[in-house]
Amino acid sequence: MDINFTPEDEAFRAEVRAFIEENQPQHLKGVRRGEYRNKEDFLVWHRILYKKGWLVPSWPAPYGTNWTPTQKYIWNEENARAETPAILPFGVSMVGPVIYTFGTQEQKDKYIPGILSGDVWWCQGYSEPGAGSDLASLKTTAVREGDYYIVNGQKTWTTLAQFADWIFCLVRTDKNAKAQEGISFLLIDMKTPGITVKPIITMDGGHEVNEVWFDNVKVPVENRIHEENKGWTCAKFLLSHERAGIAGVARSKRAISRLKDMLAMEVIDGEKLIDDADFERKIAELEIDLTALEFTELRTLASEQAGKGPGLESSILKIKGTEIQQRITELVMEGVGYYSLPYSDPLSHNEFAPGPAYAEGTTQNYANMRKTSIYGGSNEIQRNIIAKMVLGL
Ligand SMILES: Cc1cc2nc3c(=O)[nH]c(=O)nc-3n(C[C@H](O)[C@H](O)[C@H](O)COP(=O)(O)OP(=O)(O)OC[C@H]3O[C@@H](n4cnc5c(N)ncnc54)[C@H](O)[C@@H]3O)c2cc1C
Repeated sequence: MDINFTPEDEAFRAEVRAFIEENQPQHLKGVRRGEYRNKEDFLVWHRILYKKGWLVPSWPAPYGTNWTPTQKYIWNEENARAETPAILPFGVSMVGPVIYTFGTQEQKDKYIPGILSGDVWWCQGYSEPGAGSDLASLKTTAVREGDYYIVNGQKTWTTLAQFADWIFCLVRTDKNAKAQEGISFLLIDMKTPGITVKPIITMDGGHEVNEVWFDNVKVPVENRIHEENKGWTCAKFLLSHERAGIAGVARSKRAISRLKDMLAMEVIDGEKLIDDADFERKIAELEIDLTALEFTELRTLASEQAGKGPGLESSILKIKGTEIQQRITELVMEGVGYYSLPYSDPLSHNEFAPGPAYAEGTTQNYANMRKTSIYGGSNEIQRNIIAKMVLGL
């Protein structure tokens, strides 16, 4: 396997780098999502990439870029290096692929343009208070009445639903069938009467997740993707895309490089932390694990190129990727020591952060990143999937 870049790849890298330098929204460079000031902050980079035609490199024709796996890899690396805003996954990485794979031509024509332009914001209505890991036990019902479904129930942990125009939902359309066989995939306009969004404030003080309640919500039957009671097929397809995207290898590389810069500035008893043997060992272990993950990600990209969607390897990517992200935040915490104690509340903007600038937000980031091993299907569940489907246990 040749892992050197060709002159064409290097030319592509130069083109991407120049484009990012010229167009990246400077006020969001390296800014955490929890610190975005408004809805537009989430969308500005999305709109710039859409205009350029580089928003959805992995989508098939006629939407995608037709880049090689190496070009996609370079694209991710350059974005991480420049600390551009991450693109929201709900439209482009979740419901979009479901619609272009399972939707009718009419549905593609209706929904895809808004996903690509960023004019329509989507959220994900999968989890319920009694249905997280055991998603197939979901209880939100959709009862057919003529050309409509009447939807009743509650979704929870719905990320950024406070901004959403539409929600894609898993609903129960047959109570008597086996759990997985009585589920349908519905697209619901958030302005429909009977929908209530209630905020959940998390331990980092942020408002990222919500409860979404449905009280006799009338949804046209034409908003169902795929056949009635075949929603589980769409659900699983979407989850493998979601999991593969959570790995975040390029951004972890950037985070480790930031960590090293930070440790080079931290001096304790006259010694730079970067020269501390124990820290050196921890960083080396992280980098080895990240390199191994990077090659797994490259294999996934290559098999996507061969027409295969992300399969079971998405569970491996998800576990290792999120463990590495969490280990980085733990090392930052350990590195800055007591400077991590001052805590600024992103809601009240009551900032109190003595100590060096690089230590700011350490605690929030540490707390916020605990979520990564839970969402997209917890890491314990991914291990069960690997045990059953890969190891045959
Ligand atoms: C920040 C955040 C954002 C989220 N955003 C969304 C969103 O936008 N839309 C959405 O639909 N959902 C969202 N989720 C929900 C997420 O998908 C669920 O939290 C996740 O699937 C786990 O479900 P649960 O919280 O009900 O935990 P539970 O299923 O109750 O699990 C509790 C614990 O038990 C473990 N466990 C459960 N079953 C098993 C088993 N069989 N074997 C071994 N261990 C097991 C789990 O790993 C976990 O540690 C979000 C979650 C978080 C934290």
